[in-house]
Amino acid sequence: MNGSRLIGIGLSAAKSNFTELDRPYKITFSITYRCQSRCLTCNIWEKKPVNELTIEEVRAFAKKNDYFKWVEITGGEPFLNSDIVEIVKAFAESSKGLFILTMPTNSLCSQEMVVQKLRQILSLGIPKVSITLSLDGNRQLHDKIRGIPGNFDKVMSMARRLKELQKEYRNLFFVFGYTMSRLNQGRLEETIADVKKELPWATANNFHVNVGQLSGMYYGNEGMDIAADREMVAKEVGMLLKKRRAEIGMIPLIEGIFLRKLVDYVTTGKPPMKSRSLDASLFLDSYGNVFPSIMWDKKVGNIRDVDYDLLKLWSNSEANEIRKSIKEGKEPASWTACEAYQTIVGNIKGAVR
Ligand code: SF4
Repeated sequence: MNGSRLIGIGLSAAKSNFTELDRPYKITFSITYRCQSRCLTCNIWEKKPVNELTIEEVRAFAKKNDYFKWVEITGGEPFLNSDIVEIVKAFAESSKGLFILTMPTNSLCSQEMVVQKLRQILSLGIPKVSITLSLDGNRQLHDKIRGIPGNFDKVMSMARRLKELQKEYRNLFFVFGYTMSRLNQGRLEETIADVKKELPWATANNFHVNVGQLSGMYYGNEGMDIAADREMVAKEVGMLLKKRRAEIGMIPLIEGIFLRKLVDYVTTGKPPMKSRSLDASLFLDSYGNVFPSIMWDKKVGNIRDVDYDLLKLWSNSEANEIRKSIKEGKEPASWTACEAYQTIVGNIKGAVR
């Protein structure tokens, strides 16, 4: 079954190199904007969300839109939504070709609760479940950037729990998600070394790096002075690429391309390739609003207005206008992991250049 699902996502990705898709295969879905962090790079924690999608609404959406092969759950802190298992289950039961579920966590929720819910999620038959443990520095630095004393130690403890859990669930994967900003520039190597002191098995391969970006609609951080120095980012990503052990497989290959293109992006300030937003992927916020990505405040519509049928929005005038803007290169410059992977696999020629 895993093989056929892998072939399914591979075919969608391959097809997206030659033609516009008639439906997306990846959804990034913020299941709540609630967050107990106090990050200095992101203001989501200041949002006071009301009227977020209910589990009944998510079920209706998942049932009507049964073609997702990759579901990325995000937040806020996803584990603050007590329906998280039911939400994943709704997608897993409807989208029979679902191959991968990805999800970040700030490691601040009760770890007993997280592990218990993860066990249920891991038992749903999804071939790959990948968790990103947010980690922006060593003990002192991470706790300062995240605004929560003791957060670094909770991330370490969560990593130990997940490492144990991997012995039981072969479909579980996890990495540390390091967001580079002005606040931690130049500190990646030291962070990897300090993590290794806590977790002797950890290597550079366990780190996924992003650069902190601005999005008023999503992060609520428009105008914040968080951008890391371009040369520093290029140097640190270069260091990470050198330290990474060669790994075989599609995901390490795409991750390597993502990192190399990240250097291009910070050096030129331009996106390395045209995105596949509103073609291969979309962003659904916790109120049901559909956007091309987390980085672009262009609303396509709301699933509540179309009886939860995404395809009724897929070809509306707003969506077509956004696609035209992307073709004309008018999309805001960004290179986030949420968008980059499907962009890379949908632009193979540009990716290997
Ligand atoms: S970066 Fe993540 S953990 Fe920090 S405030 Fe934003 S959503 Fe919360």
